[in-house]
Amino acid sequence: MNTDVLVVGAGMIGTCTALQLALRGHSVALVDRQAPGGETSYGNAGIIQREAVEPYAFPRDWPAVIGAALGRRMDVNYHLDALPSVMSPLARYWHASAPARYAQIAHDYSRLIEHCLTEHAALIEASGAADLVRKEGYRAVFQTQAAMDSASTRAAELQERYGIRYEHLNGDALARAEPELRVRLVGALHWLDPWSVSDPGALVQRYAQRFVTLGGSIAQADAATLTPTASGWQVHSVDGPLTARHAVIALGPWAAPLTSSLGYKLPLFVKRGYHRHYLGGPSLRLPLLDAENGFVIAPMSRGMRVTTGAEFARIGAPATPVQLDKAERAARRLIDLPQSVEQQPWLGNRPCTVDMKPVMGPAPKHAGLWFNFGHAHQGFTLGPVSGRLIADLIEGTTPAIDPKPYSPLRF
Ligand SMILES: Cc1cc2nc3c(=O)[nH]c(=O)nc-3n(C[C@H](O)[C@H](O)[C@H](O)COP(=O)(O)OP(=O)(O)OC[C@H]3O[C@@H](n4cnc5c(N)ncnc54)[C@H](O)[C@@H]3O)c2cc1C
Repeated sequence: MNTDVLVVGAGMIGTCTALQLALRGHSVALVDRQAPGGETSYGNAGIIQREAVEPYAFPRDWPAVIGAALGRRMDVNYHLDALPSVMSPLARYWHASAPARYAQIAHDYSRLIEHCLTEHAALIEASGAADLVRKEGYRAVFQTQAAMDSASTRAAELQERYGIRYEHLNGDALARAEPELRVRLVGALHWLDPWSVSDPGALVQRYAQRFVTLGGSIAQADAATLTPTASGWQVHSVDGPLTARHAVIALGPWAAPLTSSLGYKLPLFVKRGYHRHYLGGPSLRLPLLDAENGFVIAPMSRGMRVTTGAEFARIGAPATPVQLDKAERAARRLIDLPQSVEQQPWLGNRPCTVDMKPVMGPAPKHAGLWFNFGHAHQGFTLGPVSGRLIADLIEGTTPAIDPKPYSPLRF
């Protein structure tokens, strides 16, 4: 079968890219080894993070770094045998997080995030997915006054710089807002702009269904079969070869093997994360981030989903859910969680780059090849805007966002 574009990888990023192109009338095949939205885009905390205008920097304060190195922090874990391969990207991540460099990166990042709600809104409407979305923000809660004060200072800066909206809740107001909390906390910041999704994988599936109703096709294939041809690109699906003039690599955490086999050396790494559901007990009204411990409790359709921070480990290495065990204990102090739904926790991989920005744009060495991956902590948020940017670039129209800061050429 021949189409205009092959999109390889059907997570939030690839599915949105395919949908944005199909909405403009292109014939597109969306290719994955499994059904859309089954990996990282299924297991996240489900927050469309309009407030995340500045990406996660590498901590620059030594107590935080030493605490992580000694395994004392709940938000970070690492595998000793992964250190040789992650030391170089981590050193570059640390370098990029120095204040002056970070300020420019944050500026570039904010230009993407500022479109996340409008772009999701258009796709949510087009795919009839409003029932999955709650537009009431989420809350970051604090156990200590010092942490609350420092987060409040930063929130005020974000409001001033980017117009991000939030509300301060003291302990009483938080208890009224979330009556199922078992303990009295110092307070919370309620980020008012973000949206939360009750089933992140289902939102990707709705986008994929809309793509199909527009004439798009979904095929099962191994991305490793993607090869250049005389007139474009070809992939071997289980139903036979698929060809197109353009191919978009949207493999999230699995972009590295394919791009390196095509001759690209990109500084990619993963931050793993875990989740587990707890069903049948009291529920929170909105997602809650325990800001000091770095875990989220999100009310979802499968129950309360507890998600963890970052684990530095090789992709595919055995699960070591120590952070989830700690997060579960901490979550039980906050709310009466029932028994867990899954025996084994879910494990996923955030697709990260050393400068915290996604890699989006034309592949420098191949005509008709496009990159769209590396969205790290906010790929669920950034799918529609990233898909739109790639669709603009493929069509050769002037994109609404300057694509230069995200170009693969920066490495
Ligand atoms: C615990 C956790 C919480 C998070 N919370 C949030 C949040 O609240 N908000 C937010 O915006 N982001 C969040 N994220 C980040 C977000 O989930 C990711 O950035 C996003 O899902 C990445 O999407 P993707 O499409 O690039 O990758 P994926 O969703 O992983 O999609 C990649 C696709 O490639 C396919 N694939 C891989 N290899 C092959 C192959 N060889 N052949 C064919 N297909 C292949 C996979 O099957 C998969 O479907 C979180 C992540 C984690 C781990």
